[in-house]
Formats: sequence, structure tokens, C-alpha cells
Amino acid sequence: MLKKINLLIIFLSFVIQINLFAESQGNPGEVFPVLVQPNRDYTNLTIEIDGSMYELVALPFSKQGQYINVRDRNIYIIEKDFGESRITIQDSSKVTLSDRDAQRAYKESQLIKKAISISSTQFKSNFKFLKPVDGLISSRYGKKRYINGLPRSPHLALDIAAPTGTKIISPEFGKIILVGDFFYSGNYVVVDHGYGLITSYSHLSKVAVKEGQLIDKGQKIGEVGSTGRVTGPHLHWTVYLNQIRINPEILIDKNYLDTLL
Ligand SMILES: [Zn+2]
Repeated sequence: MLKKINLLIIFLSFVIQINLFAESQGNPGEVFPVLVQPNRDYTNLTIEIDGSMYELVALPFSKQGQYINVRDRNIYIIEKDFGESRITIQDSSKVTLSDRDAQRAYKESQLIKKAISISSTQFKSNFKFLKPVDGLISSRYGKKRYINGLPRSPHLALDIAAPTGTKIISPEFGKIILVGDFFYSGNYVVVDHGYGLITSYSHLSKVAVKEGQLIDKGQKIGEVGSTGRVTGPHLHWTVYLNQIRINPEILIDKNYLDTLL
């Protein structure tokens, strides 16, 4: 009898553990809602879902199969297979960089790093974006990349293919914080949407905005192009939350926040 009770206790604690575990996990590149006090000022992005306030915590792609600790809570990041993409870049000088290009690319990566580390509270997004360009998704977030047969960093952005000259709009209101002509990204724009939510737009043929400018939801940023390192005209769209690249598709999915709770 005692043995049976012991077994039952072991079984029940196992079930409870599984449930706790199931509660605090999420997909890489998505967000996890952590309940916070209402009516308080947070510098991280908080949103209201069903009358309660939640901080949206970004789950890094690089931490798959690991726990991250946020507000004394352990959140497990599920391991996920996003598939792979193999591309061919004809211009070999964009694959094996000269010293000069390598230096340029490094300087530009530092500029981007600095731009995305901005912390502003001028605007607050409701985490619902418009699709920035009307086109077909040609490469999704998280794909393993091979360029000319060699493994490269995963694709932590969304590619939308459209003809050169197709209008690109801002998915949300914000402020233009960086505009430039970059080695990999070509004509490049970064928009701050406040509270650590930042988006960037690569390979533009034309840029319609200036640094420091405020932009409305739906306002034109520029046009699709093939500047920088590309295989054809498309928008390479990156979304950062607290400097972590998240999956842009969750922001254009109208029901995403409802699936979180
Ligand atoms: Zn891309």
C-alpha cells in the first residue's frame, strides 16, 4: 500500500513538473508574455491582454534548447527546425571580402548595433504591424543558410519578393534612426517604434525618408530594390525586440497575441 502511495506521489509530482514546464516555454524568435503590475512604467514593451499587463520577452534563436531567466522566471526555448535555404551569389567579392570591404562591413555592423540599442519611450506599439510590402514571402525566419555551398549565419529576418520600385511602407508609427548605403544591406533604413521594438529595411532602390524624421503607420519608407548583397529584388525585413531578432511574421499575424495566453 505504502509503495503504491509513493508511486502515486512520484507520478503526481511528475505531472505537476510537466505542467510547470509546459507553462513557461516558447518558440525561438517569438515572445513570451510575463505578467507584470498594471499602471507602472516599464522600459520594456508591455501590452494589455484580456485586462492584464504583460511584458513581452523576446526568445532568442541562439538559445534553443536552453532556459532564459526573466523576472525570476525560467522560460524554456523549444528547439525548432526552420528548414534551410541555399543561395548562389554570382559576385564572389560579396562572399569572400577584401580587407577594405571587411573593414567597411565591420564598421557598418557596429553602426547597426549602436542604432538598435537605443531605448526610447516616445511611442508604444500594440505589437500589431502592417505588412511593409505587397509581395510573396521568399525566405522565412530561422532558415539555415548556405551561400555558394558554404554554411553561413541563419536567416533571422523575413524576405518579401516584389518587383523593383514596389512601395515599402512603415508597419507602425516610429522614428527613422538610421539611413545609409551599406555593404551587405545596400540602401538601408532603421525605424524605432519605441520600447526596444525596432525594424530595418534592406536592399532598397529608393529611400523616401531622412534620419530623425517621424513616420506614420502606413507611410512610405522607400522602394524595393536589389542593392547590397542579393540574388534579386526583395525586401529583407528585420524586427528587433531588445536587440534580439524576432520572427517578423508574428507581428503581421492578427491573432498572434491571442495565441499567447
Ligand atoms: Zn533576407
